[in-house]
Amino acid sequence: MHKPIKKVVIVGGGTAGWISAALLKKVIGAPIDVELVESESIGTVGVGEATIPPIRLLNNVLGLNESEFLAKTKGTIKLGIQFENWRVEGESYFHSFGAAGKSMAFCHFHHFWQRAQSLGLNTSIWDYDLNYLAAKAGKFAQINSKDPIIELPYAYHFDAGLYAKYLREVSERMGVLRTEGLIEHVEQDKDSGFISTLVLQDGRKIAGDLFIDCSGFRGLLIQQQLGAGFDDWSHWLPCDRAIAVPSERHATTLPYTRSIAHAGGWQWRIPLQHRNGNGVVYSSQHYSQQQALDLLLNNLDSKAIGEPNFIKFQTGRRRQQWARNVVAVGLSSGFLEPLESTSIHLIQSAIVRLIHMFPHQGIKAIDVAEYNRQSKVEYEQIRDFIILHYHVNERNDSHFWRDLRNMEVPDSLRHKIELFRATGRLFREQNDLFLESSWLQVLVGQGIVPQDYHPIANNLSKDKLFEMLNTIQAIKNEPLAKLPSHDDFLQSFCTKP
Ligand code: FAD
Repeated sequence: MHKPIKKVVIVGGGTAGWISAALLKKVIGAPIDVELVESESIGTVGVGEATIPPIRLLNNVLGLNESEFLAKTKGTIKLGIQFENWRVEGESYFHSFGAAGKSMAFCHFHHFWQRAQSLGLNTSIWDYDLNYLAAKAGKFAQINSKDPIIELPYAYHFDAGLYAKYLREVSERMGVLRTEGLIEHVEQDKDSGFISTLVLQDGRKIAGDLFIDCSGFRGLLIQQQLGAGFDDWSHWLPCDRAIAVPSERHATTLPYTRSIAHAGGWQWRIPLQHRNGNGVVYSSQHYSQQQALDLLLNNLDSKAIGEPNFIKFQTGRRRQQWARNVVAVGLSSGFLEPLESTSIHLIQSAIVRLIHMFPHQGIKAIDVAEYNRQSKVEYEQIRDFIILHYHVNERNDSHFWRDLRNMEVPDSLRHKIELFRATGRLFREQNDLFLESSWLQVLVGQGIVPQDYHPIANNLSKDKLFEMLNTIQAIKNEPLAKLPSHDDFLQSFCTKP
């Protein structure tokens, strides 16, 4: 229990395993040895293509060169997500990584916009958002403006398998040891219950002080060995299956993800440099596998290449993400469908959290408790944001949408929706991954019109208010003319791998 951590063993070489290996070795460095065990006979989940902006921090910490990274992972730029048919069929809205308008003290920009709407101005909140404007124009470049109103936050679409391969090279260069082999038994210390040794099929033994379980949905150590438990959230998020299939790339590469709702689930379209990623996420209560496959294949906008990948999942989180000397990272720690591209981020934030709480004189119960508390809050906040997309809908074409609209949602979410509906107010709670601007776009996009706005918005006369909004709109539009197309950007920026 009080032994210092000298050897960290990572189980699994998917995206979770290699992000964990690279980040731990890079940040903690020499005091620890890191060994990663993976089995080619089991393989990885083989999906995961869209990310959110904090991944750029991860890449920076790891010292990755951005153009080399984009070239090696066949990456493209992501400025946000277009949600199609989510509120009603035939309509779409955007969740951009930017923010509408500009930041203001005490009262958010959207209160001014709301008041202007009540006075007859007919604009959308997205008219004041450079990310949205650039996305729809198919344009991108990194913007280094001193003016905070002109910013273009971005993330990437990439092939997560190629990213893991790239991080393997980076990790091995830093001294991470990779062992190929199938783990057959796990040995635990009799007194502490800590995992002591992994025994491979061929008899080799790997001992360690701290184990990172990146073994995917099976949760080899955290669940199969330690029985850490699972909070099942499928009553709020009933989708439990996915099918993924790549298709040929388009002549023009969109700088955003498309998420298209259907009667019993939704479909993603993700543009990469060499192909498009496609998949359908659905509820097995509402579609058979064949129906879902037909839906996916009939709704591709280019020719399918490769075989479909069928995936079963259960939505929820591991009750204890750190148990004894095992920390679950990646799919072994829980799963939320990829609607807001949060899984790879959850890997990153789990390892960052572990680094913040990395044991000094052995593993302390108070660190474990704090790690688990923070992980729970983080998962629940993302869960609420995802439920919002489903719950606030006006679709009447299936039981799926009607049931989701009528279900009881978590109190935390119900309160947030009611507060916004009554007052237009939004508050970021405890480091919520999604800022007010994200909640605003999805709440407005799903059709909630606040009944009130902040009285500070009354401080301007109608003329001054309209003038301010016109000026902001013009400032946001101004950089567009100078931005290259997304394809031109990729072509000139990416170096050859
Ligand atoms: P896996 O990829 O399953 O890797 C498990 C590893 O454990 C493998 O290396 C395997 O060999 C090893 N292993 C298991 N058992 C043993 C054993 N007994 N012995 C030795 N080795 C073993 N995330 C995003 O951020 N954006 C997305 O757009 C996105 N889309 C997704 C779409 C779908 C349908 C799904 C299901 C997930 C998606 N994700 C997405 C999540 C993302 O794919 C995963 O978070 C990520 O790939 C991490 O997987 P992993 O490394 O935890 O597990």
